[in-house]
Order: sequence, then C-alpha cells, then structure tokens
Amino acid sequence: MKEPIRIAVVGSGYVGLVAALCFAEMGHEVLCVDNDERKVAALQGGDTLIHENHLPELLNRYRNQQVRFTTDLAEATRLCAAIFIAVGTPQSETGDADLSYVEAVASEIARHIDSYKVIVEKSTVPVYTNEWIRRVIERNGVRRDAFDVVSNPEFLREGTAVEDFLHPDRIVVGADSERAAKVLNAIYAPLTDGSYYDSPTKIPGCCSRENLPPLLNTSTKSAEIIKHASNAFLALKISFINAVSNLCEAADANVEQVARGIGLDSRIGPKFLRPGIGYGGSCFPKDVAAFRSVADQMGVDFNLLAEVEKINVNQKKRFLAKVRGALWTLRGKRLAVLGLAFKGDTDDIRESPAIDLVEMLLGEGCVVVAYDPAAMKRAQAELPPSVQMRYAESVDDAVRDADAVLVLTDWREFAEIDLEQLHSLLRYPIVIDGRNLFDPARMAEAGFTYLSVGRATVT
Ligand code: NAD
Repeated sequence: MKEPIRIAVVGSGYVGLVAALCFAEMGHEVLCVDNDERKVAALQGGDTLIHENHLPELLNRYRNQQVRFTTDLAEATRLCAAIFIAVGTPQSETGDADLSYVEAVASEIARHIDSYKVIVEKSTVPVYTNEWIRRVIERNGVRRDAFDVVSNPEFLREGTAVEDFLHPDRIVVGADSERAAKVLNAIYAPLTDGSYYDSPTKIPGCCSRENLPPLLNTSTKSAEIIKHASNAFLALKISFINAVSNLCEAADANVEQVARGIGLDSRIGPKFLRPGIGYGGSCFPKDVAAFRSVADQMGVDFNLLAEVEKINVNQKKRFLAKVRGALWTLRGKRLAVLGLAFKGDTDDIRESPAIDLVEMLLGEGCVVVAYDPAAMKRAQAELPPSVQMRYAESVDDAVRDADAVLVLTDWREFAEIDLEQLHSLLRYPIVIDGRNLFDPARMAEAGFTYLSVGRATVT
C-alpha cells in the first residue's frame, strides 16, 4: 500500500458519507465535515442516517479511526492535502443550481489555508464554478499558487452507491494544473492500479478486479460539463422511452418488446430504457434544469432539455389518468400505494414521482394507505399530516380491503409479491403498475385487472 493521503470531505450526505468511507476503504485517512451537529453526533455513534448497502459495515469499520466526523472545517483544511466539497447544490427558483453552500464552504476553507491544498468539486456544479471558487478563495487573501481547484464529479447511484464508488464506470479528473491532477490520480490509484481489489479486507461481495476503472484526465470545465451532460442524457433516455411507451399504448404495441429491440443495438444499449412514471430523485430533475439554465445563459439553444422535462411531468399526469380510467371516480376510494422512494433500494424521496402522485391522489379525495420498505419515515416527515393518509406496516397491511393497488417504486420486494395472497386481500383485484414489475399474462391468469406502462391492459 502506498502512503495514505489525508483527505477532507465536506458534507456527509449521500455522496459525502459514501466518499469518506470509501476513501478510507481505499487506504486513506479522512476527516468528514458537516455543519449539522446532530448528523455528526449520529455518525460518530455509528448511525448512517441513510439507507445504503454496505454503509453500516463501512461506518463500523472506520468511524472514529480512519474516518473522523467533525464540524471543524478549519482543522480539516489545515490537516488535509485535498478537500472534497460534497455539499448540496439544490435547484433555485430560477432553475439554476443554488451554489450558496459551495460558496460558504469555499470562503471558510480560504480562511484556514496554510499550505498548498487541492480543493475538489465533488458536488454537481455548472461549468465555470471552479473559476468562482478560485475567485472566492483569492478574494479571501490566499495566493494563487497556494491552491488549485479541480472537478471530480460523482456518478454513484443511490442504492448501489458503495459499489459504484469503489468500481465506477470511469473516474473523471478535471484539472488545469499538473500538480493537482497528480494528487487526484494518487488518491484514486488503489482503484486504477487494481491494488484495492486484491486487498484481503475488501468488503465481501462488493467489486471485483475485472475491468479496472479508467481515469479520464480532462480540463476542469470539461469535467463540469461531463457531469451535467451525463445526467441530462440519462434523463433524456428515460423521457424518450416514456414517450415511446405512450405511442405503444396508442398503437396497442408492447413497450417491453420495443425497448428490447432498441436496446440490443450496441450503439444504444439496453440500460435506462425502462418506462415508468417519470424520473425523480435529487439529481436528474435539478441537473436537467441547471444544465438548461447554463445553456440559456450562454446563449446556446438547448430546447431539447425542455422537452425532456415536459415529457417527465406529463408521465405522472398520464398515470393519474390511468388510475381514473380504471376506477372511474376517485373521491373516497381506498388506494394501496406501494413505494414512496424515487426508486428501489433507497430511502430517498427527494423529487420522488411517487410522492407527487400521492399528493395528487390526496388532492382528488382518495384515501391512501402507503408502504415502502425504507422511505416511510422520510415520507411521513415530508407529507403534511392528513386524515386521508395512513402509513402501513407491510404490503399486506397496505393492500387489505383496498379498491386497487398502485405500484410506484421498483422495489424487488414488490416484484416478488405472492399474487394469490394479494388477490385475496384486495377488495377489488385491480393493480395499476407504474413500474412494469409484473408480467401481464401472469396477472391475467391470476385474475387481476392489470394496467401497466406501454402495454395493453389485461382483465
Ligand atoms: P445531501 O443533502 O444528502 O448532503 C449534503 C450535506 O452537506 C448535508 O449533510 C449538509 O448538512 C451538508 N452541508 C451543507 N452545507 C454545509 C457546510 N457549509 N459545511 C458542511 N456541511 C454542509 O446531498 P447529496 O445527495 O449527498 O448531494 C451532494 C452533491 O452531490 C449534490 O451536488 C448532488 O447533486 C451531487 N450528487 C448526488 C448524487 C446522489 O445520488 N445523491 C450523485 C451524484 C452527485
């Protein structure tokens, strides 16, 4: 093992916490900084606060040793060679990324720089952010040669965040100085040279040595654009297949067959061609909006992104129309909602289309009984209390006596539901599936009225 590098990670959310623990797993020493004292105390005590595979195991292994959690950014700046900024960059009212948290961290770092530091944008930020960070630091009296700002965007997916971090499709390092690029290349060396994958302490079942991740060195601005363009492209792929699924419904074709036929073309690929109720989460919606805003500000016509957003919004409305089409009037209907997280394997409900749909259903006067394997607490905190809303303890509890079941999140647990049991518990055997988790022929055989996305309704 080469010399460990001292790394600070600022922000201990979905990205910062995973990055901090994975850097430790790669052999580095990490200070993970958050300004939320409650969060820091919980992490010090061994509570990850988020639902993510492998995270509890890593936290137990490294907390208060190779990873220290603290609120002290000054100490972290002084002690560490590289400081990763992983704070939130939420959408502002105008659609731009709100970079005020990034700016706050940059100015605080500036006040404590006492030797050469590499400041790393890990948060998703628009192009030119590196220049703003540099300006903020210089304005706070730091000499230009005492630091560099680099962009190292994060591509992890919630649900498989640890695997994604430790075995990414690619690592992008955007640096305009060789000195800074070297530091980042050294930090990721255990992954790029494969030594991490040989380590006997590597978490079992997570990542193999095959296909070592390539590290792409780029300019800082290119790296910033790579992240936004990647997320915009993925969102586009989802909206594209959703639009195709609408066409399939109109033409009485089957979108699963169509998606397979498209995806087998190696230039297109099969991933992200799953129709549903639209994309959500803390990244795609805000990143598409921010990328569009960047293009606008630069006078570049990128209206394609407006269409991507429009299709996404419509997809939820189409689903609601489908519910109405199956149940006629909605007021007073008791609906079992399976899934609140924006996708399976996570407790994240930020911009979840499932939450949007629950709000629409409540607005229509439905009684909603919801169940999600991980996101119940967060949903309860987010949705205003309502007499029309109940949180169930299990799938069975949710579906008992319901007028229909709505599947809104692609949890495996839902795909594996015992159909006979489901049939016996429901008041009416109606399943409206926004994630295409079931085979229509099997649903028909089991006696359900089954509506899904881009496929014919079976009764
Ligand atoms: P998050 O909201 O889960 O975490 C952000 C953390 O930063 C919070 O713990 C908050 O307390 C902390 N914070 C805010 N201001 C701070 C300050 N001044 N000092 C110290 N800590 C501060 O956000 P996230 O989901 O981890 O996303 C972080 C960034 O990474 C965003 O730019 C996001 O777009 C990007 N990203 C997210 C994902 C994802 O799947 N969540 C994937 C790739 C990239």
